[in-house]
Amino acid sequence: MRVCAIAGGVGGAKLAAGLQAVLPPGDLSVIVNTADDFDLWGLRICPDLDTVMYTLAGLANRETGWGVTDESFNTLAMISDYGEDAWFKLGDRDLATHILRTQRLRAGMSLTQVTADLSAALGIRNRLLPMCDEPVSTVLETPEGLLEFQEYFVRRRQRDDVLGVELRGIEKARVPVEVASAVSEAEAIIFCPSNPVVSIGPILAVPEMRELLSNCPVPRVAVSPIIGGKALKGPADEMLRSLGHEVSAAGVARMYEGLVDGFVMDRADENEEASISALGMRVLSTEAVMRDEPDRGRLAREVLNLCSKLDTV
Ligand code: GDP
Ligand code: CA
Repeated sequence: MRVCAIAGGVGGAKLAAGLQAVLPPGDLSVIVNTADDFDLWGLRICPDLDTVMYTLAGLANRETGWGVTDESFNTLAMISDYGEDAWFKLGDRDLATHILRTQRLRAGMSLTQVTADLSAALGIRNRLLPMCDEPVSTVLETPEGLLEFQEYFVRRRQRDDVLGVELRGIEKARVPVEVASAVSEAEAIIFCPSNPVVSIGPILAVPEMRELLSNCPVPRVAVSPIIGGKALKGPADEMLRSLGHEVSAAGVARMYEGLVDGFVMDRADENEEASISALGMRVLSTEAVMRDEPDRGRLAREVLNLCSKLDTV
């Protein structure tokens, strides 16, 4: 079954890896958020694309939750010796990705093309697709003023209340042809358990992306990143709260109204089934925490199984 998954970083990458494990090679396309992207020391960094790429390539560092395995930080140490405040951790192996990406972008290649080449070189046999080729940057409104995404996320460790989200450059973004064809060829669309505000939100905000996905006549399923009223990791729960959403699986489901036909959540949230069904979604309650590789494959299989049961016109 040809599947198009929609993902941010860590949560998205886990389910994408599960889908990759259970689908025949080549059947998976993953559309990834690029609104976290930024420039540092002259290099273009794409945190969510790299998280998904390293995870699908089996190179992701499980201990840290970011970067690659067998990493060293000699370059960063020397950068600190020069007096730079090295708060964004870039390892020596990871830097290779940023150096080559930056060089190729400067030579005029699109981010889509660069990502295709890098991921193929790492042995990934599925398609990794940036949500757009134009630069978009998330800026957060907080009581401290406007904060760039990585400033909020990494440097200030997500301690600020998020009162608003600005996606700079989004009006100039276009759905890449590769994304449009991945969606039109897909037999199922899966929204991974990523942050609905700053991971899925920017993807849906690319002009015409929402229309493309809402007019897609195939089963569409979202998986909840909120379990028992909490995010497993990161600020999704706090962000939903400060932006006035209900912090629950049902609250997430409401954000997907009109976009999905099925919703997958944890058994811990079973009591919300009726209110989610009332949104016109078929609900599956299961073990939605992916602790290890078998968990990822099992959840992927359950999501695909739900897709095959959905009637769509
Ligand atoms: P980021 O860009 O690295 O912040 O990652 P994402 O936006 O893709 O994912 C963040 C979300 O993933 C958080 O809200 C977590 O609750 C969710 N998440 C992480 N691991 C799991 C998991 O095993 N199961 C589910 N259902 N959600 C998860
Ligand atoms: Ca991210």
